[in-house]
Amino acid sequence: MSDLRELYQEVIIDHSHSPRNFHKLDHSNHEAEGFNPLCGDKLTLYLKVNDKLIEEASFQGAGCAISTASASLMTEILKGKTIAAAEELFHDFHGYLTGVCDENTIDKLGKLAILAGVKDFPTRVKCATLAWHTLHAALNNSHNTVTTEI
Ligand code: ZN
Repeated sequence: MSDLRELYQEVIIDHSHSPRNFHKLDHSNHEAEGFNPLCGDKLTLYLKVNDKLIEEASFQGAGCAISTASASLMTEILKGKTIAAAEELFHDFHGYLTGVCDENTIDKLGKLAILAGVKDFPTRVKCATLAWHTLHAALNNSHNTVTTEI
């Protein structure tokens, strides 16, 4: 398991140092801001949604390695997903990290399993889920601000 953990760590460091889709989206039609006051993580998420399909996703912001890597991974995963599939993934990811869902959920997480290690660090769970809370807000309202404290 330690080799796997090291690999996961490398992926997190890679994504936090060179985040994917780290820019403003010019033609976004959904947008939300997220803030995690516990850690100081801040991000703005941009989505281009067409006929319930997420065509493009990008973000900007400043935060710790976990929040940046999570947002980077999320924007990669979202492209080409339906809103329903994205919400389901958020549900599974959040459920797994907060201990609501059991170990079987990890199979459904795919690439997100990389972040499963934060499960053991409750304060970091908010860093890992910030982008996803922001996604939820962006999909449900075109402009919104969320914090992890609600
Ligand atoms: Zn953080």
